[in-house]
Amino acid sequence: MMYIGKIKHRIEKLCCSPIEVFVFHAVSDNFDERENKRVDWLQTADFEGRILSLKEQYRFISLDEAYHKLRWQWFRMRRYAVLTCDDGYASVLGVLPFLERERVPVTLFVNPKYLDGVSKRDGYATTPHYITREQLWMLDTRLVTVGMHGYRHDDATRQSAGEFEESVNRCVEILRTHPRYIPFFAYTWGRCNDMTQRLLKEKGIVAVFADGESNYRFRQGIGRKVL
Ligand SMILES: [Zn+2]
Repeated sequence: MMYIGKIKHRIEKLCCSPIEVFVFHAVSDNFDERENKRVDWLQTADFEGRILSLKEQYRFISLDEAYHKLRWQWFRMRRYAVLTCDDGYASVLGVLPFLERERVPVTLFVNPKYLDGVSKRDGYATTPHYITREQLWMLDTRLVTVGMHGYRHDDATRQSAGEFEESVNRCVEILRTHPRYIPFFAYTWGRCNDMTQRLLKEKGIVAVFADGESNYRFRQGIGRKVL
């Protein structure tokens, strides 16, 4: 069975160019340790430089367009890339005009709990500056799609099936009223297990990882690399 899987994967690689899905977190001109963790932060000029250099190699498409290509396209020569942003830091609002100008769609994976503007995430000394519900609902543009990242920023593998389901249900309940909602779930820190995968599948939600993998065909979910 393993050999068949390997051969299948090799054939897929021959027939399809990979779709690379990238993730970033906070972007601003100056680093502020009260707002961000260093590993989650990019300087604005650096962010813009990375996007422009990727644009020379790839055509940027939206995450749901990539999903359809991975599911239904059996042959693909063109190289595509997708941009996603986790956690919903308000700093993403500052780079949207640049992304609009460059015609780069972006999927924001947010934790609905922090959209109230006051809730504090565990492990942060202060409340990072998160996008608010009002700001998120203003983003009714073809450029942006909105997906789930857990109700709070919890490790799904430390939750019981009941807790994880509750977290997903609350995400769906709140975010599905957004005009640009898509049923995609990016695992916090990319952590998942059989239980979380089964539950998302049952609900028809697409899993999104943080595994550093390229995507050739749709398997258990969509792999991502750090921008
Ligand atoms: Zn996250």
